[in-house]
Amino acid sequence: MGKITVYFMGTGSAHPNKLRGAPSVVLNTDGELYMFDCGEGTQRQMAIAGLNIMKLRAIFLTHLHGDHVLGLPGLLNSMDLLNRLNGLTIFGPPGTASFIDGVNKSLHSTLKYALTISTTRNGEVYRGDNFRVLARRSLHSVPSYSYMFVEDDRPGRFHPEEAIRMSVPKGPLWGELQHGKSVSVGDRVIEPGGIVDSPVKGLRVGISGDTRPTASLVRFFHGADLLIYESTFSQELSDKAVESFHSTAEEAGALANAANVGHLILYHFSERYRRIDGLVREARRSFKRVSGARDLMSFIITNSSEQPDISISGPAGRT
Ligand SMILES: [Zn+2]
Repeated sequence: MGKITVYFMGTGSAHPNKLRGAPSVVLNTDGELYMFDCGEGTQRQMAIAGLNIMKLRAIFLTHLHGDHVLGLPGLLNSMDLLNRLNGLTIFGPPGTASFIDGVNKSLHSTLKYALTISTTRNGEVYRGDNFRVLARRSLHSVPSYSYMFVEDDRPGRFHPEEAIRMSVPKGPLWGELQHGKSVSVGDRVIEPGGIVDSPVKGLRVGISGDTRPTASLVRFFHGADLLIYESTFSQELSDKAVESFHSTAEEAGALANAANVGHLILYHFSERYRRIDGLVREARRSFKRVSGARDLMSFIITNSSEQPDISISGPAGRT
């Protein structure tokens, strides 16, 4: 809580190549892992990054195109071989259950752990202890969703010396104040202001999957601390982006600006871009805080203070 590490397992598109793997993003919160898409080769990247696949709690699929999901059968199989017992939930667009059931049946695979497959719909799809995952329909050539990982707001810092000064007895009343409620002591009503700082806003991380930019996604990602957004093409290939229902780097920057996000990370690059500096520069025309993701790169976001802080780490496993 208050700290999320984002790992890029693969940052390419279409198929894995020498420079980039197929897309997958893993979030670590309180030691538990949540995955968004699972391109081919993801589990090996996790091993290299030092991420334990048994710590995965849920997997969210943006859409059923091979580059985003073909790592899943292998990952599910490995967890079974490693004697996973904890249940796992997979969220995805319609067709996800028949894809996974079909593979498991063909492979005569009977998993020892409980696998729940749930169809993604607009709105809240998953509730964790102190966060939730929201989904919003995106605009790709097949049914597709974007996701937002949203931490709950936390109560602000409690100042016991102030509570004592106001003669609020230690005990349940302190707890009420801490949760932003006013309390009665004798005939006095004591407000939390002055005793408790304002609540700390939970962190928000948005993940686009493959999509055209839309007004609905601008609203959905509004205020995200970190937006991970696809950038398959540069603006000079905008006709290709329209045709294939993808976004250009310039469109990614414009959407990040309109959604007033904290930081934009581009991923899902076409194989034609060996270097991505040009794409990052293009996005910066309308939004300054942009990074381009590389495979195994990780980003740490914290909000221990008022303003969320984002630091970029080198490739995981090499530092
Ligand atoms: Zn894709």
